[in-house]
Amino acid sequence: MKSLIKKYQRIIYNNCLGKQPQQQDSVEYWQNRLFANTMAVVIPLSLITTIPGVGFSLYEGLYWLAALDFLSFLLVIYIAFGKGVSLLNRKFLLITVTFVAGIYLLIYLGFKGPGFLFLYSACIFGILILPVKYAFLWSWINLAICGLFSLVLHFDLSPLPAVNAIGIMEWVAISVNLIFLSFLTSFLLPNLFTGLSDSFDKQKELQAELTTEQKKLQQALHDLHLKNQDLEQFAYTASHDLQEPLRMVTGFLGQLKRKYNDQLDDKARQYIRFAEDGSARMSIMINDLLELSRVGRQSGPVQEVSLEKVVKESLEQQKRNIQKTKASVHWKNLPVVNSYPTALGQVMHNLISNALKYTKPDEKPEVIIEATDKGDHWQISVSDNGIGMETAHLEKIFTIFHRLHGTAQYPGTGIGLAIVKKNVELLGGEVCAESEPGRGSFFYFTLPKQKT
Ligand code: ADP
Repeated sequence: MKSLIKKYQRIIYNNCLGKQPQQQDSVEYWQNRLFANTMAVVIPLSLITTIPGVGFSLYEGLYWLAALDFLSFLLVIYIAFGKGVSLLNRKFLLITVTFVAGIYLLIYLGFKGPGFLFLYSACIFGILILPVKYAFLWSWINLAICGLFSLVLHFDLSPLPAVNAIGIMEWVAISVNLIFLSFLTSFLLPNLFTGLSDSFDKQKELQAELTTEQKKLQQALHDLHLKNQDLEQFAYTASHDLQEPLRMVTGFLGQLKRKYNDQLDDKARQYIRFAEDGSARMSIMINDLLELSRVGRQSGPVQEVSLEKVVKESLEQQKRNIQKTKASVHWKNLPVVNSYPTALGQVMHNLISNALKYTKPDEKPEVIIEATDKGDHWQISVSDNGIGMETAHLEKIFTIFHRLHGTAQYPGTGIGLAIVKKNVELLGGEVCAESEPGRGSFFYFTLPKQKT
């Protein structure tokens, strides 16, 4: 039964909704939909009303009415299922059937029957399902029908008693209401369509603007990506190529010291030492820059990474410093995550080495590394009891070369946290810091569980 109903609906929608898939943001689409829905409902409804209607008409001897009911039903079936009929013709046919039914009912049942109702319904339906340009046509048709009836009454033309029983004045007085209502509806209903059509147009305009903006944004993103690639390539090449002349400077400074040591006075030796220190620092800086420019280049595939293992490896590399400062490092709840091992290693290493570097001279350093499950992501933190810093500096420290201390006090290049930030962003997270001077720092970053 269900499949039969579905099949019935499918045929009606195929015939009455138009073959081409129309866009939902048009008045025409909704007019066609209304027509298709009407046809889907009108057939079962007609069946219910036609069978008793025809029966009673025959019983009462109203053969013309029985014939009209039956014929109308057949036409409705033809409109819904007839093959090779265009959508516009189906609609016109439905309106014509309704008008004809109205005329018949007026003729056979007189003006007290449902004739007027059918004529008015034909007018409303005409406006609703056919193009708005025809809106007044239906009112003119009703006017013409009422005019014709007036002539028939005036000249006593009808052979039927139901028609002739009406006085011409009475007819005009009553039919004028139908004409009034028809014209009013023809005037008002199209306003609704105009409003709808305007808002559809506006929507389409906005959609078009949005698409253009999206395209521009995509282009801008693409350009930015290319520029970033260029910049990264430049940074990589520059830092790579700078190493060669630096090696030469360091090499010749060594030669100078070795070969001419006895000829140099203390001042000259001190200058050479300064030059060596400078080139050593420059070498560290170039290496750090190289590391920064490499972020994301050698990420390899995402794989399971044990955060505990990463932490242990970093601590192993900093064993000497930990022993020297007698620092205590604790960690808890470190999970296994799906991530890029190199990137995660660099992040953890830089945060831990900073926590072990920016310590108070009179206090044993304490570092705690912790992971907290935040549902769709992990929050991983490294906290210390070191020198801390003012809140005002918290954002700037993640930019390259931004340092709060001189190299004599705390050695460094100001690149470590920039590497951290770039890596965390590569991993799809964010990095932040909280700190207070003299009370330590708390660095934390998020790590999505599902890398997008
Ligand atoms: P570097 O350590 O080489 O100077 P970073 O980019 O790692 O470079 O750090 C930038 C600056 O942020 C540091 O110079 C330091 O002033 C500050 N900083 C980083 N980590 C800490 C920390 N744990 N405690 C206090 N200050 C910190």
